[in-house]
Amino acid sequence: MNIHEYQSKGILREFGVAVPRGMVAFTPDEAYEAAKKLGTSKFVVKAQIHAGGRGKGGGVKLADSPDEVKKLASEILGMTLVTHQTGPEGKIVKRLLIEEGVDIKSEMYLGIVLDRATSKLAFMVSTEGGVEIEKVAAETPEKIHKIFVDPAVGFTAFQARQLAFALGLQGDALKNGIKFMMSLYNAYTKSDASLAEINPLVITGSGDVMALDAKINIDGSALYRHKDIAELRDTDEEEPLEVKASEFGLNYIKLDGNVGCMVNGAGLAMATMDLIKLAGAEPANFLDVGGVANVETVKNGFLLLMSDPNVKAVLVNIFGGIVRCDRVANGIKEALSQIDVTVPVVVRLQGNNADIAAKILDESSLDFIVAEDLKECADKVVAAIS
Ligand code: ADP
Ligand code: MG
Repeated sequence: MNIHEYQSKGILREFGVAVPRGMVAFTPDEAYEAAKKLGTSKFVVKAQIHAGGRGKGGGVKLADSPDEVKKLASEILGMTLVTHQTGPEGKIVKRLLIEEGVDIKSEMYLGIVLDRATSKLAFMVSTEGGVEIEKVAAETPEKIHKIFVDPAVGFTAFQARQLAFALGLQGDALKNGIKFMMSLYNAYTKSDASLAEINPLVITGSGDVMALDAKINIDGSALYRHKDIAELRDTDEEEPLEVKASEFGLNYIKLDGNVGCMVNGAGLAMATMDLIKLAGAEPANFLDVGGVANVETVKNGFLLLMSDPNVKAVLVNIFGGIVRCDRVANGIKEALSQIDVTVPVVVRLQGNNADIAAKILDESSLDFIVAEDLKECADKVVAAIS
């Protein structure tokens, strides 16, 4: 799960990771009040959207007074912010972080991710902060230093020192940098994070080390034990159909094509998307209705697919292993009698009781295109849209 910068910083603060003082604001008046409370002479007004690159896109602005904060807040709130991570359509800004302006001496990069090849957390640092780390990785990979954390031992002070040395930290900054990394690791593991990216990590004029930006993702499967973090979810930032799918308990990812697909099992769903591409079309989505594929899930699946105006045909590809195909066929029949499906539907049901299922579909008054093998169903659905 993605959360906003101010929420990430809230979690970090709880674990003693140094972050600038700041407050969230939803209106220009709240922004003004927040600036008053901060009571400093330099402020930063930061758009809160689930995407980076806000600075370049005009979503991070400096201000010298609460009045200026209010003026900037009224400009940024409601604007459509386009960054390299939002796509060309951009995102509408609905929240701001009003933060104290920090005296930046240098900007660095620090990230923690799970390295799936070694099954270990990778701690990465670079002196090249405040820029896109993907660019640094592509052009000057030697400027990224990595350390892998043994899960049985945890992140050690020795490793933190190594990383701090790689960043060239000295004196107070060295001491503060080590403390920063140890606390960040603690915050990461205790909150079941799946990513932490601090870009930039800064050294201030007085030798403090703090997170000027913070992006933390939380492992969705662990949210059941973090009720407080689960509440941070902002569905405004998510694809509306994916929000609906999560309410139905379905695994759905919206894509750009026009062939809607409904499949049971993630593996078959991936294979079905490949087949559609091989046949010369583009899938409109990934949708795994689960192993059992009952009336309820099939119905909800059709509801989702029909809510996407791009969908011009639907391919239902169900393998009857745990589930009997005749029950699925009845489920499809029932679902389609309740929902207005306005596009051609190609159905392939194979496996347990497939012959009975075929008969049910054949005899129904609804208009299905029936297919038996994988290539045939992909070809038929592509033919249906052309
Ligand atoms: P993004 O990565 O989305 O562009 P950041 O939070 O990294 O947003 O902010 C962009 C830049 O704005 C930073 O690299 C930093 O130079 C400046 N900045 C951000 N927050 C502050 C702050 N509290 N004080 C001073 N400068 C800041
Ligand atoms: Mg940043």
